[in-house]
Amino acid sequence: MHMNHIFHKAVSAYLQRTGYKRLAPAAALIDMDGTLYDSMPRHARAWMAMCAENHLQCSEEEIFMSEGMTGAATIDRLFLRCRGRHATEQEKKELYARKSEFFAAQPAAPLMPGALEMVDIFRSHGINTVLVTGSGQLSLLEKVNSDFNGAFPDSMRVTALDVSQGKPHPEPFLMGMSKASVCPWQAIAVENAPLGVQAAAASGAFTIAVVTGPIKKQALADAGADIVFNSMPECKQSLPDLLYSMNNHQN
Ligand code: CA
Repeated sequence: MHMNHIFHKAVSAYLQRTGYKRLAPAAALIDMDGTLYDSMPRHARAWMAMCAENHLQCSEEEIFMSEGMTGAATIDRLFLRCRGRHATEQEKKELYARKSEFFAAQPAAPLMPGALEMVDIFRSHGINTVLVTGSGQLSLLEKVNSDFNGAFPDSMRVTALDVSQGKPHPEPFLMGMSKASVCPWQAIAVENAPLGVQAAAASGAFTIAVVTGPIKKQALADAGADIVFNSMPECKQSLPDLLYSMNNHQN
């Protein structure tokens, strides 16, 4: 099937699932880890090291599948499973700080290949970019704006520090829309993980999922993505045509 036909169908399916009359993108709500940065292997190593130190049983796969949750929520889930009780606020704070130390001790995560171009394409189409992340990892948050040519100033980012409900709750994306002053039918979300896709789709944004690691295409489609790309280079290459399909959609 020709790509433009796939994009047309994706927009039609989005309008059908949301009940909106049109899709007029004005803001892109973009996830950070595994989307802008190839940082997930480093996060997984940091989580595994923190868990080993605290005798919390955990697999790398579990870390990848819980991607998008806040650190506090991830720690609470580990405690419930391994110790049969919730983590205290103090434990969440201390263990997340420890995990952050293990993360920051590794070399800086590289940009995801194609991510810079993807962000530039949104901006060149007059679409404002907003960072929407469950991360509270200062070592990345401090450099994301300069790494992406000023696309994510403080006023245009939602982090773990802003929300009470992390992904898969739609709150982070709804807050991103509010920061950009747009409605859901004016918003595109870009995500790489199932919980993030669930959150984005539930917020009413058109949800682009990109395969950038071990999480399979089907898992992202099952989580509710409106379209799934096989890689970030494929995403940025397809983005101009996808935006055209959105802005010129007719049933
Ligand atoms: Ca992510």
